[in-house]
Amino acid sequence: MRGVMAVDLKSLVRSIPDYPKPGIIFRDITSLIEDSAGFRQACQQLADSHSSKGITKVAGIEARGFIFGAGVAIALGVGFVPVRKAGKLPGETIGQNYALEYGVDTIEIHANAVNGDDNVLLIDDLIATGGTAVAAISLLRRTGATVSHAGFVIDLPDINGAEKVRALGVSVEALIA
Ligand code: AMP
Repeated sequence: MRGVMAVDLKSLVRSIPDYPKPGIIFRDITSLIEDSAGFRQACQQLADSHSSKGITKVAGIEARGFIFGAGVAIALGVGFVPVRKAGKLPGETIGQNYALEYGVDTIEIHANAVNGDDNVLLIDDLIATGGTAVAAISLLRRTGATVSHAGFVIDLPDINGAEKVRALGVSVEALIA
């Protein structure tokens, strides 16, 4: 699959204006994942570009990061770690707060999901401000794990979130800008 752009991924992403609120253009990936070739290509491209990085776990951010992260983990032959909204994981957890436009949110992982032996690839569907990804990287690193790579299907480059992630020493790959 490397180097072969069989599917135009951008054409499979639907843009829905004024969702979930006025002024936001929602980039909807359900139309991409409904396309078998597009879905497989997105996961495979994110896996291929990290196949020589010694990745031991893929962490995906709830909820759409689970969809792509699981596919990338299977393609890389490593386990998958869900980064969840607060209160969803049954075992002992560690959490990280992060600022939203109005208020704060919390993400959690199981405390023993990764450790200092792990080299984690972070995956989400989209990076906008980067706030969610920065929080997830901080959370994963608190376990001692290495987080040096992050992959997204979509980057909104005008908002500069990728720069915040790169400032943490994390490489950023996005399939669509
Ligand atoms: P941020 O923390 O600002 O980088 O936001 C990233 C998270 O919010 C991702 O999990 C996305 O799924 C979601 N998100 C933010 N903006 C959009 C958008 N315009 N369309 C679809 N999802 C978005």
